[in-house]
Amino acid sequence: NNKFFVGGNWKCNGTKDSISKLVSDLNSAMLEADVAKVDTGFPQKVVSLISQNVVVAPPFVYIDQVKNSLTDRIEISAQNSWVGKGGAFTGEISVEQLKDTGCKWVILGHSERRHVIGEDDQFIGKKAAYALSEGLGVIACIGEKLEEREAGKTFDVCFQQLKAFADAVPSWDNVVVAYEPVWAIGTGKVATPVQAQEVHAACRDWLKNNISAEVASKTRIIYGGSVNGGNCAELAKQEDIDGFLVGGASLKGPEFATIINSVT
Ligand code: 13P
Repeated sequence: NNKFFVGGNWKCNGTKDSISKLVSDLNSAMLEADVAKVDTGFPQKVVSLISQNVVVAPPFVYIDQVKNSLTDRIEISAQNSWVGKGGAFTGEISVEQLKDTGCKWVILGHSERRHVIGEDDQFIGKKAAYALSEGLGVIACIGEKLEEREAGKTFDVCFQQLKAFADAVPSWDNVVVAYEPVWAIGTGKVATPVQAQEVHAACRDWLKNNISAEVASKTRIIYGGSVNGGNCAELAKQEDIDGFLVGGASLKGPEFATIINSVT
């Protein structure tokens, strides 16, 4: 069984004040887990916390604030990175700068960057290769739009996006795949456990057939799209779901703690 991975993607949300409150809620959720450990020895809650990666991705300008105030049991991710070494690239943030501020991860290929900003497979692949070469972990996002699902193209789209990552990266050791169907993001329309499991299993199969059996079994494939405190437990039970990438619900400390604890 792979280590469960839960990421909170804060997107373009928050202020110094709201982030300070969120950090303090997350710190107390972790503290409560420690107290529970002292009281009862080995409760499920603590097992889940130590057996998984928890990561949050604040907007760039708040990374330093979060790094300096959040418990180090939660790692920091960026939401994007520049495709190569820094320099004369107005408005961009380099991988080196992300590492300098304490980031361990970067989210790449998110649907909002693909479909709102217009990044393509090749550019995203290059970003992934550069971030990995500099030692950041990559949360590699894939997922189909509603019309693609309705046209029966879900697997084709996901496999093409996976292939673009595969063609670019030399190793999958530091990659987590996030399956985020575009129609489920921010819509409240979560994929059913059966729908999500079907795509996760197909992606794992793709990795097996195109990379190796070892990469297929070791690579975490996490689900994102309207995950909340109410639907996470059923999703987490699915065989090929190794965690979550959470948007809206990650902005609420107690609900994000519920999702962190949904590991089975
Ligand atoms: P929501 O959880 O708000 O649907 O967002 C999911 C997402 O895009 C995480 O990256």
